[in-house]
Amino acid sequence: MAKWVYMFTEGNATMRNLLGGKGANLAEMTNLGLPVPQGFTITTEACTQYYEDGRKINDEIMEQIMESITKMEEITGKKFGDKENPLLVSVRSGARASMPGMMDTILNLGLNEEVVEVLAEKSGNARWAWDCYRRFIQMYSDVVMEVGKKYFEELIDKMKADRGVKQDVELTAEDLKELAEQFKAEYKEKIGADFPTDPKEQLMGAIKAVFRSWDNPRANVYRRDNDIPYSWGTAVNVQMMAFGNMGDDCGTGVAFTRDPATGNNGLFGEFLTNAQGEDVVAGVRTPMHISEMEQKFPEAFKQFKEVCKTLEDHYRDMQDMEFTVEHGKLYMLQTRNGKRTAQAALKIACDLVDEGMRTEEEAVAMIDPRNLDTLLHPQFDAAALKAAEPVAKALGASPGAACGKVVFTADDAVAWAARGEKVVLVRLETSPEDITGMKSAQGILTVRGGMTSHAAVVARGMGTCCVSGCGDITMDEENKKFTLAGKEYHEGDFISLDGSTGNIYDGVIATVDATIAGEFGRIMGWADKYRTMKVRTNADTPADAKKARELGAEGIGLCRTEHMFFEGNRIDAFREMICSETVEEREAALAKILPEQQGDFEKLYEALEGNPVTIRFLDPPLHEFVPTEEEDIKKLADAQGKTVEQIKAIIDSLHEFNPMMGHRGCRLAVTYPEIAKMQTSAVIRAAINVKKAHPDWNVKPEIMIPLVGDIKELKYVKKFVVETADAEIKAAGSDLEYEVGTMIEIPRAALTADDIAKEADFFCFGTNDLTQMTYGFSRDDAGKFLDAYYDAKIFENDPFAKLDQTGVGKLMDMAIKLGKPVNPNLHVGICGEHGGDPSSVEFCNKLGLDYVSCSPFRVPIARLAAAQAAI
Ligand code: PEP
Ligand code: MG
Repeated sequence: MAKWVYMFTEGNATMRNLLGGKGANLAEMTNLGLPVPQGFTITTEACTQYYEDGRKINDEIMEQIMESITKMEEITGKKFGDKENPLLVSVRSGARASMPGMMDTILNLGLNEEVVEVLAEKSGNARWAWDCYRRFIQMYSDVVMEVGKKYFEELIDKMKADRGVKQDVELTAEDLKELAEQFKAEYKEKIGADFPTDPKEQLMGAIKAVFRSWDNPRANVYRRDNDIPYSWGTAVNVQMMAFGNMGDDCGTGVAFTRDPATGNNGLFGEFLTNAQGEDVVAGVRTPMHISEMEQKFPEAFKQFKEVCKTLEDHYRDMQDMEFTVEHGKLYMLQTRNGKRTAQAALKIACDLVDEGMRTEEEAVAMIDPRNLDTLLHPQFDAAALKAAEPVAKALGASPGAACGKVVFTADDAVAWAARGEKVVLVRLETSPEDITGMKSAQGILTVRGGMTSHAAVVARGMGTCCVSGCGDITMDEENKKFTLAGKEYHEGDFISLDGSTGNIYDGVIATVDATIAGEFGRIMGWADKYRTMKVRTNADTPADAKKARELGAEGIGLCRTEHMFFEGNRIDAFREMICSETVEEREAALAKILPEQQGDFEKLYEALEGNPVTIRFLDPPLHEFVPTEEEDIKKLADAQGKTVEQIKAIIDSLHEFNPMMGHRGCRLAVTYPEIAKMQTSAVIRAAINVKKAHPDWNVKPEIMIPLVGDIKELKYVKKFVVETADAEIKAAGSDLEYEVGTMIEIPRAALTADDIAKEADFFCFGTNDLTQMTYGFSRDDAGKFLDAYYDAKIFENDPFAKLDQTGVGKLMDMAIKLGKPVNPNLHVGICGEHGGDPSSVEFCNKLGLDYVSCSPFRVPIARLAAAQAAI
């Protein structure tokens, strides 16, 4: 028979997966001999079983719970429903990873009409007993039976008004008794049955409620934001109550062994006398600083300080603890590794190394790479954020916080920013023309588009906050307004975005600038020491490349050359090229482009100082580049010596039903080899010049051909590349070496990688397209239906953000295993957006990739994740 329930005396800290964090730590504290009110933990497996059984607790689990109650009664000497010494318990959730405030808690369970009288009499404190009872009815009704809290709060308010008092604590025992009666009547009215009096029935209801809370909407969102799998389930902890609200020699508190905001070493926390845990959290009364506890409860405080030291030494990490003092006696209710800001995390990790508690490797492993985002991008002021309610949630496409006035066009963004206004650019979707506007904005909000949409990719590259795919917005671009959550927003209205969670807020939420803490460099240094996989960057401009170098990039893994045309009026020549009708016209346009590209490439090589640079040849989905505005069409017509109608006809002919699978990637070079030739000349000439200027640098261009699905495509394009490159090198009398490789971003390329490796010097996984093509989900449209996928539990994460290791990952594995034996020198990387996602980086390390490549601001995250994967 499976074991579904463990007494605290039976578990330990290593059993976290089974007992959840809270349960495992309660057991561990018990083993350490600390004062823990005893109880038991129902395992996470029981939670999973509950769901498998159609949300029912089966007989076997039920039986073990009942046995554990008996054991608990023996240990504590108290009994459920007893007239002499009644047992009251708390029932609390506890998943493997802590999810603060996401799931449910019930206190004072075991009370009924008789027990409350016993308590009142035994304690000599009738007020306390009735207060416990009314709190229990209120919590149970809310959490277990889902009768809204507000009905009870209204009754409390009414009672206070009737009695002419302001605070709950001013209500007398009689008042509270009457309230309890009113609460039960309210319960009966809403539920149609009496409030349960049998403690065992109450307990089963509470346990089910905790299991059920694993699947509540806020827990589901929290899990998705924090990468916690649904399949883990939550454990349930049933623990004897210790009372902090029995009088002035009682109290309850929450404390950290180090400051969770700064990391400073020293006790940090809050304490309330005569209160129960929820009072501290709910902020109804203002708690005192933990140090003041020393005066009130010198003995308990002394003991608590010893417990803190024991726990920190034991866990070798900063602890976050909950405790209660009952008639001067200390009880520990919880300990866990405390949540902390990124800054605090770095400081604590370094301090622990200096204190001899942790090794460098352990310190590196302690930092959540995703947290580093907060050091690199502006954030919301924590207090302001706490007070704010989001009006909507969409995709957190590029991290950071933004607050500004709504503008609807890129030009307005530029103009408003120029006069010192902070703006948020709101668009249906973005296109290359919006780039300068995106740069001027604090943040970008789009109605359409997924994690790899134009807006998302470009914003991440810039390090600008972006929330994408907010389908709840009804947009009226023409009249410069949109509606969201029932409110109409006009140009100039304030809006705030959280690019990490995707939350959208009405109005102003103050932001604070990013500050890289002193310990950042130290941790990164250790990360670099222990990782084996290289980290490159996706950078399209010299400025991006420079930024990425500062953040530790060891090369460029992807330069999207089409993005180089976003600057200034460069797009004009690009449009001339794609709207050419003859080779001559196209070559004339290319002749204008060549020097610009060469100049850019030179700057990239300069910025990278001899580190590898992969230049990807043009891969523009054409619809992103053709002019749409009348004035741009006219400009193009004039430049080409054509009529507006002729240009419009060309644009029409370029229309594609499915541009992402249209005339892009190497298909462009197959139809127009002159484009590949021009780009080759630009790359090679740039490299030759930089090599000449810096003979000690290892300048060796890597030319990358995109969207190859068939070896013959690669061969065909490569021939032009090699001919052109060799001719350039010869003409310059140079000994420059170069490589030609390909992206693996079409499933067929992965399936035939043994063929492709014969022609390729390297593979780079373009997992944006590979995900799109493997799932057959449009990367720009998936946002529209992914929510339904989350709700239906088909997906837990966006596969465009977190690599689908099962399917896409299998193709990657296959490509490497097929490719390497054919070409032992083949080097392999990844440059899809997944290259900066920690769990995907870990997977890439496992596959044996030589490098990951990601946008500049994610380079530190990837460095840390790569180190953690290697440790
Ligand atoms: C990819 O497809 O993963 C990739 C890096 O290329 P792009 O996003 O430019 O299509
Ligand atoms: Mg691609």
